[in-house]
Amino acid sequence: MNPETVNPIMEHITSLAYIVSAALFIFGLKMLGSPETARRGNLVSAGGMFLAVVFTLARAGLDFKWIALGIAVGTAVGVVAALKVKMTGMPEMVALFNGGGGLASMLVGWSEFHAHPGQTAVFILVAIYLAVLIGGVTFTGSVVAWGKLSGAMPSRPVLFSGRQVINGCLLLATLAVGVLFCGGFAPGGAAVYVPAAVLLSLIIGVTTVIPIGGADMPVVISLLNSYSGLAACAAGFAIGNTILIVAGGLVGASGLILTNIMCKAMNRSLANVLFSGFGSAQAKIGAGAEEGTAQATSAQDAYHVLEAASSVVFVPGYGMAVAQAQHAVRELADLIEANGAEVAFAIHPVAGRMPGHMNVLLAEANVPYDKLVEMDDINQTIDTVDVCIVIGANDVVNPAAREDEGSPIFGMPIIEADRARNVFVLKRSMASGFAGIPNPLFYKSNTRMIFGDAKATIETLVEEFKS
Ligand code: NDP
Repeated sequence: MNPETVNPIMEHITSLAYIVSAALFIFGLKMLGSPETARRGNLVSAGGMFLAVVFTLARAGLDFKWIALGIAVGTAVGVVAALKVKMTGMPEMVALFNGGGGLASMLVGWSEFHAHPGQTAVFILVAIYLAVLIGGVTFTGSVVAWGKLSGAMPSRPVLFSGRQVINGCLLLATLAVGVLFCGGFAPGGAAVYVPAAVLLSLIIGVTTVIPIGGADMPVVISLLNSYSGLAACAAGFAIGNTILIVAGGLVGASGLILTNIMCKAMNRSLANVLFSGFGSAQAKIGAGAEEGTAQATSAQDAYHVLEAASSVVFVPGYGMAVAQAQHAVRELADLIEANGAEVAFAIHPVAGRMPGHMNVLLAEANVPYDKLVEMDDINQTIDTVDVCIVIGANDVVNPAAREDEGSPIFGMPIIEADRARNVFVLKRSMASGFAGIPNPLFYKSNTRMIFGDAKATIETLVEEFKS
């Protein structure tokens, strides 16, 4: 943008619009904290972003030819993705969005350097360098995360020898390039250091995410989300755009908060998630977990137990999303309640494939919010529950987290379904969950497996209640 062409009155109006936008972002974020207001919160934040975009474009001196093309392509991709991507594919989509945000910030930083070749202010050079660096790491890191989640590449951690040394060297090189670039000690011109930073950041994104895998991927996605915000914030400083700084700062901070919540939900430190290579030693994991025989039962037999129960807790997991069983589950819950039993839904923070996955599905099926119980609360009373119905959940109810010190999930808080009087586990086979480890719950004396697609099983139970 050419500063001479900016109208000062328009500048003031834009600043006011940015303040309104920032307020809308904050209100929107606050509303995302509850399933009841989340949908409206999303709209409020989107309204804030729309306002920010309109007023930024309305400032003078922009070349609309390219902007219009960008808006058309971006809108087309966004609309198609929103319509086509299934709920179970959301984490992959979020990974790609994070990557897109990182790439955009990297390109903004890079082009800003060339837009003002004589730039010497250290603060701006640092902002440009950080936008390029964090943006590049976010881009390739997110592409790798997308590959792992979508199955385009193995989801297990890829551990190569000497990776700590390689990452250490890359980090040192990044620092050295940063000092040379920002300190103005650039023999041969600073321009050479920006492509060097781009290259380093793209490599670091791959080498830091590829050794992570298994059940740690949600934390990585959340962290990359935070990085994409920080990169945007740095890009905002580089180009002097207040609302980009605010929006980037909010995304960066909320991503870090979410990362922290998820680490707590898995009882892991962030350092442990990033550097331990979870699941790489699966062969020796959970030795002895498959002792005993799993006992299967039919939906018809399970009905008789449910019919006599006075308290029933549903524990939904990723399999409920795959089976799209949420509407049938709601119908069954209503029938059980009408039969006189108390019904609740126990929600684990990382059940499914993204934070809040189960809340979204149950909200879609109009399950009342007051029926949703958090993990810590249900665990306090689960011994008194007559029947716990585990619907396509596996890792989040795995008692190895409590009982097997050798298990990689030892210490992870779980919904302690195995402590209920009777447990029905609805899944198609004895296969393990996302973390790839055996589940002793299936072999407990109070557990009965009901094999088959969760939706079909629930529908059979509904029929039994109706007849
Ligand atoms: P899991 O992935 O542990 O288990 C899901 C189970 O669902 C599988 O064992 C599978 O067994 C069963 N299943 C799949 N399809 C069906 C179907 N149609 N009908 C019935 N069952 C089905 O899920 P959880 O929700 O328990 O745990 C989530 C895991 O994912 C955790 O390890 C978490 O860390 C990780 N994760 C979480 C994210 C988040 O933010 N929530 C994001 C990314 C990963 P079978 O094949 O035998 O049917």
